Amino acid sequence: MKATPSPSAGQPASASPAAAPEVIMVDVRDPSDTLPPPPGDPVKSGRRTVDLQVRILDENDRRAADNRAFFRERGIRALNFVSSPGSGKTTLLQRTLGALASELGTAVLVGDLETANDAERLRRPGVPVAQITTGGTCHLDAAMIARGLAALPLDGVRLLFIENVGNLVCPASFDLGENRRITLVSCTEGEDKPLKYPPMFSSAHAVILTKIDVAAAMEFDLDLARNNIRRAAPQAEVFELSARTGEGFDAWLSYLRALR
Ligand code: MG
Ligand code: ZN
Repeated sequence: MKATPSPSAGQPASASPAAAPEVIMVDVRDPSDTLPPPPGDPVKSGRRTVDLQVRILDENDRRAADNRAFFRERGIRALNFVSSPGSGKTTLLQRTLGALASELGTAVLVGDLETANDAERLRRPGVPVAQITTGGTCHLDAAMIARGLAALPLDGVRLLFIENVGNLVCPASFDLGENRRITLVSCTEGEDKPLKYPPMFSSAHAVILTKIDVAAAMEFDLDLARNNIRRAAPQAEVFELSARTGEGFDAWLSYLRALR
């Protein structure tokens, strides 16, 4: 697929202070890892694999602690947004930035396997955005966040939004050092998603039910979904909103403002 050119590609750099900054590219692809892993459950393929996974997660936890200390020193609150692909993370962040960027220092790290499409959607004046391209890796890890932080101008930033790779499974295992983990599930998905993917919900500080404007059209059972979210994430604050219409957005913005 052809890459979408940046809107300013081929044009001279704008001197206008209102221009949105270019997306910063942080490519963390491993050149030796060009093929996807073979199908199958790696845990069953032997003790060595299990040991390796434990070491990877231990190393990740150390780096996550470093990130957390960095955020504390800088007075930054970092939020890690996780969900299936297509649950509306980027759209939620677009509207959130539209409402808050002029009021609070914000920055964004976006993770995807390839393309800077989401980062391009999030560009706006005064908001540094870095796109982390992971290649074959289906989650962000703490080391990738550290590389993204090194590339981002963070002066005056109070809220850092991290859009994880769309995946409801392994991002739950990778602490990024975030202060809040926000799990999204949309009214275009099954009401039982929270029951099918428990770790992503049981580890969330907040769960956002998105796209509530289409719930009726999708014959989505809101009460059933609410019950399932409560069962899978009894510890979490729950928001119901539409980033398209703005319904339910005030409570979400209040939550973010209170994180200051
Ligand atoms: Mg996205
Ligand atoms: Zn993964």
